[in-house]
Amino acid sequence: MREPSYRGQQLFEWIYGKGATRFEEMTNLPKEFRERLADTKRISSAIVENQQVSSDGTVKALMRLESGRHVEAVLIPEMEGDRVLRATACVSSQVGCPMACAFCATGTMGFHENLSAGQIFDQARAMDQIAGERLGRGLSNIVFMGMGEPLLNYASVVRSVRLISDPAGLGLSQRRITISTVGLARRIKHLADEDIHTRLAVSLHAPTDEKRSAIMPVNRAARTDLSALKEALVYYYRQTSEPITFEYCLFDGVNDTDQDASDLALASKWIPSKVNLIMYNPVAGLPFSRTRDERMNRFVRRLVKEGVTVTVRRSRGQDIDAACGQLAVSETHEDQA
Ligand code: SF4
Repeated sequence: MREPSYRGQQLFEWIYGKGATRFEEMTNLPKEFRERLADTKRISSAIVENQQVSSDGTVKALMRLESGRHVEAVLIPEMEGDRVLRATACVSSQVGCPMACAFCATGTMGFHENLSAGQIFDQARAMDQIAGERLGRGLSNIVFMGMGEPLLNYASVVRSVRLISDPAGLGLSQRRITISTVGLARRIKHLADEDIHTRLAVSLHAPTDEKRSAIMPVNRAARTDLSALKEALVYYYRQTSEPITFEYCLFDGVNDTDQDASDLALASKWIPSKVNLIMYNPVAGLPFSRTRDERMNRFVRRLVKEGVTVTVRRSRGQDIDAACGQLAVSETHEDQA
């Protein structure tokens, strides 16, 4: 537009830093330039259309994209009394997801579209704003654990990390951003070579090829089975020296035996890591249920005995369409009705 390059920085600060949605708000730009922008450009943003607040403080926001489709983002406060320890946003990277994990609400939707870096950023900004209003502070962490497989939308996810961490964007440290993947081996290696420093979480959910392939179709291909995943993670650790997290959702009678715990302990020793056990929120129509508490405790004890660092994530927001993707799934069904 034949403007000096610093105008680009000014626009960046208005759009990503201040959340401006109209050029006329950008008062440090010459009026004539603002008018030219308004005539020829458009600022698109994902809009929060609906918020649900759980009794435990979790907030789910349904966001409408330009396409008319919806994604969800979730704000998860962790409190100690009245003190907010952490304010974590869980963001989506795709509308729907092609990975078809058998236990997942989003997996039932199929794949609809990849989000742009800006649309991912919009979710983070909206959650930051909601955290400010409800908790009196901004986000402390972001996890890519909403709808979609982030590494299938690789370029946009990496770009959104840069936008979120830019001091003129949200200014959140990359070390407070976690990318969670089902384990796309080749892309884990790309991520290892990227000049960003996010955390990595791998959704393992079963410790052997046989069990994993039964619930996660991604594991059925040789390029993404457990041995490919192991090789990619060893590469990742060699390049980054960063420990990772294995996410493991416990399903009653599926992956919660003593043998599963021992197999999981073995897998967790591939590289320095911790295991995060997740209590499943059952999804209507899917044949999985949550492991009972005493069985989970036994599973935890076994892992600890085998030298594994374990954390347990209790389900949050159970009263507000709990599992990932459920809010958007129910909205989609209503759209279709
Ligand atoms: S668990 Fe994640 S990767 Fe699997 S279908 Fe659901 S959103 Fe996709």
